[in-house]
Amino acid sequence: MSKHILILGGGYGGLLTAMTARQHLSADEAKITVVNRFATHQIITELHRLAVGGVSEQAVALPLDKLLKNYNVDLKIATVKEISPDQREVSLEDGTKLSYDYLVTALGSETAYFGIPGLEEHSFVLKSVNDANRLRAHVEACIAEYSKTKNKADGTIVVGGGGLTGIELVGEYADLMPSLCLKHGVDPKEISLYCVEAAPTVLPGFPAELVERAQSSLTKRGVTFVTGTPVTKMDATTVELKDGSKIETKTMVWTGGVQGNSVVANSGIEVNRGRALVNEFLQSTSHKDVFLAGDSAVVMGPEGRPYPPTAQLAWQMGEVVGVNLAVTIRGGAMESFVPVFSGTLGSLGRKDAIGTIGGNKTQLKGLPASLMKEASNVRYLSHIKGLFALAY
Ligand code: NAD
Repeated sequence: MSKHILILGGGYGGLLTAMTARQHLSADEAKITVVNRFATHQIITELHRLAVGGVSEQAVALPLDKLLKNYNVDLKIATVKEISPDQREVSLEDGTKLSYDYLVTALGSETAYFGIPGLEEHSFVLKSVNDANRLRAHVEACIAEYSKTKNKADGTIVVGGGGLTGIELVGEYADLMPSLCLKHGVDPKEISLYCVEAAPTVLPGFPAELVERAQSSLTKRGVTFVTGTPVTKMDATTVELKDGSKIETKTMVWTGGVQGNSVVANSGIEVNRGRALVNEFLQSTSHKDVFLAGDSAVVMGPEGRPYPPTAQLAWQMGEVVGVNLAVTIRGGAMESFVPVFSGTLGSLGRKDAIGTIGGNKTQLKGLPASLMKEASNVRYLSHIKGLFALAY
């Protein structure tokens, strides 16, 4: 009898699970449903570019119905409200209840606000195409307003958090400002761009030489770094820092961290700090009929430290989950998840980047890093388009 595989999330983990599972399982063996809150598969690693209009929306928001057209997948555009693993049931915000034989949760992560007063209400985030579009329109409106009023809060952009998300975004702003200011008749020197980081340096964990390179490249293009100084409070026009200083701004983009998805955290499956615990086959440690792909799970490395929540791991997890679902339904030995790290690359605007390959052994700066970063995006897109073409 046909089994029902229910996949929650159409991001890197969910899409690759669906595609891989269907390549191994016929429609008689499994019905596959994908639930996603957007109608598109979003290339979230490129959102910083969309936020400044450096890339078109079509390039980062790929219609899921087209991608899955040949895969015989039932696609539902809806938001997941609750998972009841003991009842094998999922409730959606629209009131629908879905039952399953096998569940895949690939719901990604959420922004962590760490209880900082005012932050969730007043800051922007960069987690979806809608967020990027909203931010682009807002920043342009602020610069237009600044040209008339010279109000400091309109002419100041703060990126809170100097991890890769924050650094990539502030790099885009540094490159955007000259042309945006020219368009609105503003002297770019009047505009302030801040990156505020709690740790002693930005990009904690990156080799010191690359941190230095990132800071000097961005400082030259007008970014002011405030390090060792956490954001502690925010209201509509002011960001407060731990040292008591205040920055007047209407644009605070919060990139200070991510946490597990609350739907997964509250589902009753076993979690560690809100992220689902998995065995080597990416099954929930508490519910063997639940598989996990991407940031809503935590995979421990050999030293007992969690692997970082990245797109490249979500993609790889999805492929392993797809194979393991097929094996579970058809019989055979499951695959263990062994992550392959192709490197970490971060852009510093349009023409500069930094990166490491092979742990921190090989360091890249400038054009080679920019080209590698571009290549990794092209590689992902050609991979999913290749899978699309391969489908039967
Ligand atoms: P992150 O957790 O990596 O960085 C958040 C930063 O915010 C940290 O440096 C932290 O010290 C800082 N911070 C926390 N609280 C703060 C406060 N109160 N005030 C000021 N700063 C504060 O988050 P991220 O950058 O969104 O990245 C999330 C994951 O995604 C990471 O694993 C990252 O490697 C990955 N990522 C990768 C890429 C890429 O490969 N190009 C791009 C973006 C994100």
